[in-house]
This record gives sequence, C-alpha cells and structure tokens, in this order.
Amino acid sequence: MQAVGSGLGGAPTGPPLTKFSMLRLAIQKSGRLSEDSLQLIRECGISFLSSSYKLKTEATNFPLEILFLRDDDIPGYVQDGVADLGIVGQNVLEEADGAHLQVEALGFSKCRLSLAVPRGDAYESVATLQGKNIATSYPNLLGRYLAAHGVQAQLHTISGSVEIAPSIGLAEAICDIVSSGSTLLGNGLREVETVFRSEAVLIAQPHLSAEQQDLLDQLQFRMQAVRRAKRSKYIILNAPVGALDEVRRLLPGIKSPTVTPLAEAGWVSVQSVVQEDDFWHITSQLKAVGAEGILVLPIEKMIA
Ligand code: ATP
Ligand code: ZN
Repeated sequence: MQAVGSGLGGAPTGPPLTKFSMLRLAIQKSGRLSEDSLQLIRECGISFLSSSYKLKTEATNFPLEILFLRDDDIPGYVQDGVADLGIVGQNVLEEADGAHLQVEALGFSKCRLSLAVPRGDAYESVATLQGKNIATSYPNLLGRYLAAHGVQAQLHTISGSVEIAPSIGLAEAICDIVSSGSTLLGNGLREVETVFRSEAVLIAQPHLSAEQQDLLDQLQFRMQAVRRAKRSKYIILNAPVGALDEVRRLLPGIKSPTVTPLAEAGWVSVQSVVQEDDFWHITSQLKAVGAEGILVLPIEKMIA
C-alpha cells in the first residue's frame, strides 16, 4: 500500500511533504558562553527542558531545536547548514573565517585577544616580535595582525594553557584571550598589544528558507527587545512643578515623560526611561533640581 502523500512507489498522490519549518540553534555545551546563551534564549520567552547531559533539546513554545556543541565546532556546523544558527565568540568566528555569518552582536562575553610577553622583557612595539616564537590558539587571527604590521614570527599553535608557554621555554610571547588580565599577571606576563576585541554573536547559515528567515526575524526582534531593556531603567520620581522643565530636559524618555499631578498641590509625579550608563549622572542632577522619592525599576522587555 502506498503511503499517503509520500510520493513513493508510484505516481505522486499530492504535493510533496514540506519539511516542518524550524531552526536549529547551536550553542556552547559547557564553557563561558553557555549560561549567558541559555539565559538569552529564556529571556526571549522560549521554554525548553534543559539537561547538561543532552546533546540537543527542543523548545516547547517556539520552533527551535538547541544543539550543544564545542564552541570551535559551531562556525563550521553553521557554514555547512547542519545548524541554522549559532551563538559563538567573534574570536572563534574570525579564526574560522566565518565573519560573513554574523547577523547580530549580543553584548555578552566581552573579551580581547592580546599579545603578552614576560614582565621583565624589553618591549617597544609589535616590531619587537620580529623573528620571535609566539604561542597561540589563534594562528589565523594573529597571523593576519602580524602581517598587517609587517612582522614575521614563528607561530606555535597550542589549544590550551597558552600562558605557560614562555615559562616552559616554548615561546617568547603569547597571544591569548584576556578579560581582566589576572591570568597573565599570575603567570608573570604583561599585556602589550590588543589584537582583536570580541563579544558573543548570533550567526546564521547562508541558505535559510523563507520560513526560517521569518523565524530568525522573530528571534532577532525578541533579542533586540531584551538587550534594549537591559540597557534601560524605568524611573519614577516626585518633583515640584517649578522644576518640571529641568526634569523634562534631564529625562526626555522614549517620546516624552509621563507627568501626573500629586495629591499635594504644586507637586507632580514623573515617569520615564533612562539609559543605565547615564543613570547615576542623571539622578544626582535630578536631586539637585529638587526631585524626591526617586524609584528605579528594571524593565523586562522594551519594544521600540
Ligand atoms: P570549548 O570546550 O567549547 O572548546 P573553550 O575552552 O574553547 O570551550 P571557553 O573558555 O569556554 O572556551 O570560552 C568560550 C568563549 O568565551 C571564548 O571563545 C571567548 O569568546 C569568550 N571568553 C573567553 N574567555 C573569556 C573571559 N575571560 N571573559 C569573557 N569572555 C571570555
Ligand atoms: Zn573552544
């Protein structure tokens, strides 16, 4: 008997079955990107059963499958379309020549790829590294940087514990990921050049179907709303009516602030949105013009 709609074993009985449209998103299984990647997906309102032992899981309220992989494998899987999307550090993406896959910067896992030399060694400029041995896990990125500066050096590619290379005599310099610099310090090294600045990014395979592109648009819309909300705070305060012009100047809000009268004559309540970066600066100015009872609340989502 012929399977209905399969088209197998005889003349087709109807239109071919179209694959149910969904996206497969690859994230780091276990490492510095994992927790923030999962949190971003949750903050986008996507629920899933998570288990650290699993290789994949399916979202329950969005057509999304999540694959858990080593971060270094993510650009290749996305380039080949095995995964449709991925979350990976730009450092790993650039190293794999995958910059064209990037669709959105995500603002977390900020770090830099830096050159470092033993603290006591003389260092003037990148030209000091001419002819030296440099240990790194990023030979492509570093190679491009050195070439751009006209420096030739021997690169030794090692996959971990790069910072110990000088102390065991493997190299005179290293090039590795740095965030605070404490690991370098602990190994007697001094950071001398920034080779590349990185953050986590969303990447997408080049041949998404129209339906998948539509799902990606929805996902990016949610991610942007989450990021905007994180950068902003909701602020409520009381101010004397006479200070209102000053308060409005300090708190322009999205369109303009909400102003409502208080029961006490001559006072208003003002509600608005401020950027996290400007927050302390603005609150001290608000107090200076007579604002009182300033409340600051987190914003969960912010739709432009
Ligand atoms: P895997 O086992 O998946 O290969 P890994 O050991 O290569 O993991 P991690 O150390 O977990 O990688 O780092 C993952 C990514 O997080 C890095 O590629 C980089 O983008 C970012 N990262 C690394 N170190 C830091 C740091 N100190 N601060 C912030 N972000 C970092
Ligand atoms: Zn890795």
